[in-house]
Amino acid sequence: MMPKSPFPYFLIGTIVRGFGRGSKELGCPTANLDEKAVEQLPSTLNEGVYYGWGQLVNDDDDDENQRNIYKMVTSIGTNPFYHGEKKTIETHLMHKFTDDFYGKQLKVILLGELRPMTTFANANELMRAIQKDIQNAERLLDSENSRRYLRETFFENLSK
Ligand code: ADP
Ligand code: MG
Repeated sequence: MMPKSPFPYFLIGTIVRGFGRGSKELGCPTANLDEKAVEQLPSTLNEGVYYGWGQLVNDDDDDENQRNIYKMVTSIGTNPFYHGEKKTIETHLMHKFTDDFYGKQLKVILLGELRPMTTFANANELMRAIQKDIQNAERLLDSENSRRYLRETFFENLSK
């Protein structure tokens, strides 16, 4: 029997502080999610890089007609390039923000895997892989098959 696909995978987490490497060393900020979100991951999700949609809950920039759902890439795993011990979930939203948003809730729908998580010879190689992930995600998320998830009730802000 074919193993059941984990996609689409819906998750909500609180954004916590990491090592601050994303923006400073890699030019790509990643919102790290709390341990509870990590513990809830199904075992069918390999350590890898995924694409999908992300939304900040109660985004200040939100207006009534716009739900501010962004394209995103998410890495899940122990970050072997940094010899990490803990598994992390880190989401890069494809949008330019003026401020940090630590402590906020992030809703994510993972739609598919881009590549397994691996180590790299140097930070430059890792940066290039991330740029390629972002390009691939851009393209995959433009398809109607991906865009239909924008209409998910999951993304409706119930507090408004
Ligand atoms: P950390 O190690 O604390 O996660 P990063 O260097 O990875 O630090 O930066 C992540 C933080 O940057 C996020 O928690 C968020 O507050 C902020 N941020 C700003 N722009 C983005 C973006 N486009 N995607 C994700 N996080 C962003
Ligand atoms: Mg980060």
